[in-house]
Amino acid sequence: QSFGFRTVDAGTKQPLVDEVFHKVAKRYDLMNDIMSAGMHRVWKDAMVSALNPPKRAGWTSLDVAGGTGDIAFRIVEASQRKAHVTVLDINGSMLSVGRERAEKRGLLDNLDFVEANAEALPFDDERFDAYTIAFGIRNVPRIDVALAEAWRVLKPGGRFLCLEFSEVEMPLLDRAYEAWSFNAIPAIGKMVAGDGEPYRYLVESIAKFPKQADFAAMIERAGFERVTFRNFTGGIAALHSGWKL
Ligand code: SAM
Repeated sequence: QSFGFRTVDAGTKQPLVDEVFHKVAKRYDLMNDIMSAGMHRVWKDAMVSALNPPKRAGWTSLDVAGGTGDIAFRIVEASQRKAHVTVLDINGSMLSVGRERAEKRGLLDNLDFVEANAEALPFDDERFDAYTIAFGIRNVPRIDVALAEAWRVLKPGGRFLCLEFSEVEMPLLDRAYEAWSFNAIPAIGKMVAGDGEPYRYLVESIAKFPKQADFAAMIERAGFERVTFRNFTGGIAALHSGWKL
């Protein structure tokens, strides 16, 4: 069976994305470690140090496509358990794993979990000090709509940060990465999680995501200012930053 992602349009993409993450939720954290050789932890740490959340109660952040909570937990810890983070995801299976993990870490007081779509955030305007999205935006069918929503819910002065797989900009590394992702990742997915197909989708969606500079231009079109990006590991991942001024 193939999800046929190469041809799906915005209208049919979301149910397929949802199926993928329902299937992988329980194995998601383990697979992340195996497939990125632990690198996703380093990139997530770098994202949260770029955000540098203040150690002040009342500061709030929204982590969209927050899944099993990796970014939200890091933000709460970096703020010395002062910040409040809303973890938002369209997928209840991913959120339940997140809630369980948060409970084990004693972080529930600083978090809440909301099942909703990045394209239609169930919040008033100008509600959050920061908006983060890690390895999530490429799954959203209408990226421009999600960016407009990010801008809407941020307070003036608010920070937007997006971590996403990107275009590898180092010769040789790009070929090795392509071989790894198109062959090894679905094979490992099959071995560890019992199904290679969801991972084939993930790899294809990475290949289709806009390049660093093009994505930066989309963020600017949504109204953000001082938009910059930084490559991690030769561009395997990139961190985009913008401000609502
Ligand atoms: N941010 C987490 C991390 O870095 O480990 C999870 C990333 S996971 C690769 C992508 C997440 O995006 C999944 O949990 C999926 O359910 C969520 N997602 C996909 N489409 C979404 C949408 N339209 N709105 C909100 N979340 C969405």
